[in-house]
Amino acid sequence: MARITGPKCRLCRREGLKLFLKGERCYTVKCAVERRGTPPGVHTWSRQRKSSYGLQLREKQRLKRMYGVMERQFRIYFARAVQKKGNTGANLLLEVERRLDNVLRLSGFATGPGAARQMIVHGHVAVNGRRCDRPSRQIRAGDLIKVTAHERRRKHVAAMAESTKAYMTESPAWLEVDREKLEIKVLLLPTREQFPFGINEQLIVEGMSK
Ligand code: SF4
Repeated sequence: MARITGPKCRLCRREGLKLFLKGERCYTVKCAVERRGTPPGVHTWSRQRKSSYGLQLREKQRLKRMYGVMERQFRIYFARAVQKKGNTGANLLLEVERRLDNVLRLSGFATGPGAARQMIVHGHVAVNGRRCDRPSRQIRAGDLIKVTAHERRRKHVAAMAESTKAYMTESPAWLEVDREKLEIKVLLLPTREQFPFGINEQLIVEGMSK
């Protein structure tokens, strides 16, 4: 399974917005976007205005990096979004938002996407009573997600869930989160309005439809 490696804050600086990839640090003044909002690399101020292709590419990269999705997987999501009824852009956002690793992150059980992914790959998560080790699994309305790790690991997850309380005070309305039992119930699927980041999905659709 391919994944994005390398300095995370650099990704945020490239996109010019907070992608919340490092847990608590993202909510403090230590955040690299807060400290210096310039893109990484030399000659950052001398860059020219972007072409329409550049804008479309940037928007796509933003979405991929927020969710830790690689190009191949993203193209699969896009193909599915096109096939579904309704607005393609909204369908695409729903595809990435429904990933199991994202649900764990939104619930505060993991400090960031990396920790959520590791928890799943190491087999500490079950969906509807069955262990699932695929971070990309698409959750559905009515699914019950549980942390099933053995006692020592469970304590670690519980401590992580406790620590995220301080800065993730609310979980999304479409999830019912029980931090004591380490359980998440998916009440319904999210809508476009509940999508947390400011993404112009239309640009992505235009770029990928060529
Ligand atoms: Fe991005 Fe978090 Fe680093 Fe800030 S601290 S730049 S939000 S990963």
